Amino acid sequence: MNDKKLTIAIDGFSSCGKSTVAKELARKLGYVYVDTGAMYRAVTLYCMRNSLISDDGTVNTDNLKKVIGDINITFTYNKSTGANTTWLNGEQVEDEIRRIEVSNKVSYVSRIDFVRTQMVKLQQDMGKQGGIVMDGRDIGTVVFPNADLKIFMTASPEVRAQRRFDELTAKGEKVTMEEVLENVNQRDYIDQHRDVSPLRQADDAHVVDNSHMTRDEQFAVILQLVENAKKG
Ligand code: C5P
Repeated sequence: MNDKKLTIAIDGFSSCGKSTVAKELARKLGYVYVDTGAMYRAVTLYCMRNSLISDDGTVNTDNLKKVIGDINITFTYNKSTGANTTWLNGEQVEDEIRRIEVSNKVSYVSRIDFVRTQMVKLQQDMGKQGGIVMDGRDIGTVVFPNADLKIFMTASPEVRAQRRFDELTAKGEKVTMEEVLENVNQRDYIDQHRDVSPLRQADDAHVVDNSHMTRDEQFAVILQLVENAKKG
């Protein structure tokens, strides 16, 4: 492999293992990893804490617009543990943004145009130097349309819900499989049908369906794609 610093975009449905792969890949290549879902989750948490979103997902966009520029989201990376941590205005929110209450609301916040404009700008700044793996929904289509490598990951809704269920129950969250599957289906629907930057596969993305792949098999496929991209 030559040492060209690639920009790698990984998009796909929720809970299809994008973050795990993206993190592992960044670590292997010595690149920066950015979890853009965490950014939308952090904005959602901010809305929830500041009464900017109601139980049915209605967002007070006028008030959110006034404060969006003051919402500061940063990441830290711990080299020895490999852990990425999300910070919202200086507070560590990594666990809180993964809770199901946030998952249930995030699609209502991420479909707002000025929220996306602000996040995309931050993401483009983070990736200016190359040597980055970024995962999300619109990375290959909007954030980095000229990425060196675009991967679109997918798996069946049932497989994804089972993975998310295992993850949440391992953390002690009291959820049912039905609730998690409903959340996965609902987020898929809203993410694919929103007006601004809907989730879609970039024409030049490589599709990886990992429903029936082990983590190692999937990683081998992706590493091969990276090698090819470095040559190209
Ligand atoms: O990746 P994750 O499931 O944590 O993303 C949470 C939500 O954030 C998604 O369901 C989607 O609504 C939104 N999102 C987005 N664009 C991105 C990343 C995430 O709209 N680039």
